[in-house]
Amino acid sequence: MPWKAPAPPSPCSVCEKSVYEMEKLTADGLIYHKSCFKCSHCKKVLSLGSYASQERRLFCKPHFKQLFMTKGNYDEGFGKEQHKKQWIK
Ligand SMILES: [Zn+2]
Ligand SMILES: [Zn+2]
Repeated sequence: MPWKAPAPPSPCSVCEKSVYEMEKLTADGLIYHKSCFKCSHCKKVLSLGSYASQERRLFCKPHFKQLFMTKGNYDEGFGKEQHKKQWIK
């Protein structure tokens, strides 16, 4: 073969499917599809200048603040949601 085969594409940190150069986005050393680089809360597509990450999950800045910056809000929010679901039953 006259040419070297290109390295296999790296997997996306979100969906774990291969990422090709044209759709690749790198943040904090992790690789994402541009379309997978979105808030895991509201699904809004993010840009490198407007994202926050927590335990490899991505958030827009308003939701990151809402979910993690308010003390105790994270657990409380999920607890309330579970109670609501029980009541609906
Ligand atoms: Zn992806
Ligand atoms: Zn969001």
